[in-house]
Amino acid sequence: MSETELPRVTVTLPGGHRVTARVHRWRQDRDGRWWAEVTLYIPASEVDRVEGEDYRRVRREARRPPEPRYVLQSLPPAAGSRRPRMELHEAGCWALREHLGGRITPVEDATMARASLRFADTTACPACRPAPRATSGG
Ligand SMILES: [Zn+2]
Repeated sequence: MSETELPRVTVTLPGGHRVTARVHRWRQDRDGRWWAEVTLYIPASEVDRVEGEDYRRVRREARRPPEPRYVLQSLPPAAGSRRPRMELHEAGCWALREHLGGRITPVEDATMARASLRFADTTACPACRPAPRATSGG
């Protein structure tokens, strides 16, 4: 059974804090008392390392960087023009599918997305109406 398949339990810690855990097994001791072997999930900031222990084999699972939130799509030139146009979309916009063939380029972050709208040949998609804010990060 993988860890995510184990059933969840709620554990009350000394001090009354309640946290979610996964239970591995129940085991009875000589006195008849039952113990639960659990995996606890608590903020890493609450964990202190013990001197002398080797933590090199403990896996570190960082989150993958967030998906780009905006994409630029190249469109054919407008009538009477030779310059290709660009359209800014929210990533996953349904209107992207209607223009198969146009190149779609992820935009690094909201600041870059906002900057792209300052170019005369770039417009915001009328369907998803992206409004990137420079301070919003992704
Ligand atoms: Zn769109």
